[in-house]
Amino acid sequence: MPEYCTCGAKLPPDARFCHKCAKPQYDYPGTDDAQIVSEPPPLPVPPPLPTALAAPEINFRNRIAVKIGFLAALLAVLATGLITFGLSVSGRSVAWILRCRALGAGLV
Ligand SMILES: [Zn+2]
Repeated sequence: MPEYCTCGAKLPPDARFCHKCAKPQYDYPGTDDAQIVSEPPPLPVPPPLPTALAAPEINFRNRIAVKIGFLAALLAVLATGLITFGLSVSGRSVAWILRCRALGAGLV
């Protein structure tokens, strides 16, 4: 192994290429041109895609489906209640304000 490249750069021990001019410093065993131009190795066959698990039926025996159904119903009831309560309160407030203005009195 030469210690200096032909370009004059000092090579580290076991250098495969010159770090300055990129000249290869020795030939690899088994790297001939025939291998370089040969076809790349065949791509590995991808594993078969996992078949989608059969979705369980949605019925009252499916506990997860029942839980999700109850949760959705609970959220719907709560949301409806909040909306109804909010509309009721705001509607009554507006009615009260209009009544007080009509009577010429302050907001009592
Ligand atoms: Zn060099």
